[in-house]
Amino acid sequence: MSIGRLCLAILLVAGILRAEPERQAYPSLLPSVEVERKVQALLSRLTLDEKIDLLAGDGKDGMSTKAIPRVGIPKLVMADGPQGIREHGPACSFPSAIALAATWDKELAFDYGEALGKEARARGIHIQLGPGVNIARTPLSGRNFEYYGEDPYLAGEMAAEWIKGLQSQGVVATVKHFVGNDAEWRRLEIETVMNEQTLREIYLEPFRKAFQQGGSWSVMSAYNKLNGYPSTGNRYLLDGILKEEWRFPGPVMSDWWATQSADALAAGLDLEMPMDYHLTRTSIKKALQEKRLTPERIDDAVTRILRMAISMGFLDREQKRNDLPLDSPESADVARKVAIRSIVLLKNDPSLLPLDRSSLREIVVYGPNAQDTPAVAGGSGGVVPFRKVSFLEGIREALPPGIGLHYVPVPLSPVFSPSRFLDFPKPPRDLPPRITGIRRMVCVTEKRVTSCVSSQEKRILISWDGNTPPDHIPKGREGRVTWDATVEVPDTGEFEIITEGHPEIRLGNKELGTPQSYVVHLNKGDSIPLRVTINEVGRGKGRVSLRIIPVPPEWIGIKPARNADVAIVCAGLNPETEGEGFDRGFALPLEQQRLIRKVAEANPRTIVVLSGGAGVDMRDWIGKVPSVLQTWYLGQEAGTALASILFGEESPSGHLPCTFDRSIDENPAFRHYPGEFASGKEWPVANYAEGIFYGYRGYDLSGRKPLFPFGHGLSFTTFSLSDLKVVPENGAYRADFTLSNTGGRAGAVVAQLYTGLPREKSRRPLRELKGFVRSELKQGESKSLSIVIAGESLRYWDEATHGWIFPEGPVRFDLGLSENDIRLSTTMPRNTPTEDSANPAP
Ligand code: BGC
Repeated sequence: MSIGRLCLAILLVAGILRAEPERQAYPSLLPSVEVERKVQALLSRLTLDEKIDLLAGDGKDGMSTKAIPRVGIPKLVMADGPQGIREHGPACSFPSAIALAATWDKELAFDYGEALGKEARARGIHIQLGPGVNIARTPLSGRNFEYYGEDPYLAGEMAAEWIKGLQSQGVVATVKHFVGNDAEWRRLEIETVMNEQTLREIYLEPFRKAFQQGGSWSVMSAYNKLNGYPSTGNRYLLDGILKEEWRFPGPVMSDWWATQSADALAAGLDLEMPMDYHLTRTSIKKALQEKRLTPERIDDAVTRILRMAISMGFLDREQKRNDLPLDSPESADVARKVAIRSIVLLKNDPSLLPLDRSSLREIVVYGPNAQDTPAVAGGSGGVVPFRKVSFLEGIREALPPGIGLHYVPVPLSPVFSPSRFLDFPKPPRDLPPRITGIRRMVCVTEKRVTSCVSSQEKRILISWDGNTPPDHIPKGREGRVTWDATVEVPDTGEFEIITEGHPEIRLGNKELGTPQSYVVHLNKGDSIPLRVTINEVGRGKGRVSLRIIPVPPEWIGIKPARNADVAIVCAGLNPETEGEGFDRGFALPLEQQRLIRKVAEANPRTIVVLSGGAGVDMRDWIGKVPSVLQTWYLGQEAGTALASILFGEESPSGHLPCTFDRSIDENPAFRHYPGEFASGKEWPVANYAEGIFYGYRGYDLSGRKPLFPFGHGLSFTTFSLSDLKVVPENGAYRADFTLSNTGGRAGAVVAQLYTGLPREKSRRPLRELKGFVRSELKQGESKSLSIVIAGESLRYWDEATHGWIFPEGPVRFDLGLSENDIRLSTTMPRNTPTEDSANPAP
């Protein structure tokens, strides 16, 4: 990119940012010919070997670039991830991105990014590996919790603010995973296939906002292939859309080990992480000799890395700020605020919440997540906090003396463990089945030839770390391990299959998927074939195991519910059942479903508190409990936040950033999930055949109602909307309206503005989110509010011309408190901005 074009790009970003005067502190993004001069001067001093060295991580710690001390280039230190600083000692554990999205609070997103930026500076980190803006296409993706939900507008707006906050502290944001990594199933090999319209309108859109609105300095490419090409080395995506069309001036880094060959550099990759596995001095020089790569491309990649580093001041100052505390009260405060504002009151009928402390005598708390409250789900986003308030502790702290609080540690899978087993009042009734004749096969594929070794084993168990890969798998490589065995059943009853590491299981002729816990009924004398398979064994650290145990008598401990004034069941998922590298189920573990049902039967005043990155199947019990709260993963302040809602210090104000399905087969994308081995390809293919009609767009198309719609969130007070007026304003639209608090107490709510384009060439969604505002109102207060919809957000992609077009017909504006709770509508004739702004020239 020429200096002129770069400055134009920077001005463009700065121009957008200027729209919000109070949030202008982005020195890194100001146009600077000076930066460009410094970059070129430094580039000219580097040897070819030094340039190549800059194009890959240093591999020693797996989380940094290489330094070139001769010319004063420092090593740039990176850290995961979106919800706190991982692996640099204890740090603030913030709520996950899905929780932040549920606040619909852009200012808070900025504050979150800013606080995280300070956490990074206190530890000398230059580059933060977040935000993640992949889309919650189904609730099953293991990483939905790390992303911003299903809607590209909401995700893009929130991520952009987070990025501005983070980068305002001199820390680079890395928006990930570019693009189509919307599930974890076979993520290293899968090919995502979608049409241009779906790619442009949905899956690319939050990335575009992250760059053009947020000014993200870095991007991480995804593991998956997209439409035939690896995302890490996809000319169309990286060179075409990202660098040419969007004028992105920074570097593209690979996801960890995602680079497939040195040719990725020629196709637009700039930095291989975590080390030079493919982008080595030898392979790059060979590519140069064979003319598969040009010296200019190498210079461009180095320029991008240096431009980012120099613009952010990395060459001029120490990154570590000793004046900032490691254990920051300011971060804890932001974490608490986000947690409180993210909790969604799904149901409160009859109104059991808020609880009135003055009339309570006894509360009983159940469920695995009460004591082991998950701050975050599993994977590279994990953070070890200085301290953490569990739900149980939060409730205990909030209760005045005199109110009895009982916690009943009913044994439950999957938190069930041998140590808890010892606490059982009674021993389990049955003998565990025996797993016999275990034969293990380890296979590695090298250039299409697969070699395997097999062995007899006593247990289904394998563990490894980077230095000691399992037998037969070469260091740095991966293989597939399969166990074949027989399950011999000594007694009739229910048994639980418990796994670690998410292997695929087949019992008899039934595929069980990759559950962490699965309950089966087995008969005495049964002898059933078992097959357990795990891919991706060998790199990093891991452990895979499977055992079968009798199901404990789960009804123990339900009795106390009967006498309590209120029973609270803390259920849902945790890092073992939801996380990176595997997809999760829609059903709650069976024991949790039973627990909720039994507690609700014993006490109709039962509140269910759910953890998880998306919806779960609630059909079994939703009609039997009055109140349900969705708490996502709330970080270190989970208990404090929950208690403040339960006891009514705060009115709930979170709104769903994703639709909650009634049953998974009603999810509009489920039919095409997770993908299949299509003929002719060696890897699985996920075809997004539902196109743009997934999530709420898909429900509207079918006319079916989900369990809880996108944008839904109840409050302890009530609100009304009135006086909607939409006026055209400089190629945009401004919606003015009045929001009133009509209930009995203060509260906050999110007004949501959707648009519908009824008469267009191609079929359009009934409505799509285009603006929102969160507002706090005192009892009886009314506020005049405005939402501005930029003209460009009405454009849509035309497959025929491969370009954006503007609506031809009228535009309908729907204002409401959820996607299914539209209170006011108005229609305007079209207001066409110039064609240039629909398809900006590269
Ligand atoms: C994940 C990334 C993460 C990286 C470094 C990868 O496996 O997909 O999101 O940033 O590891 O930990």
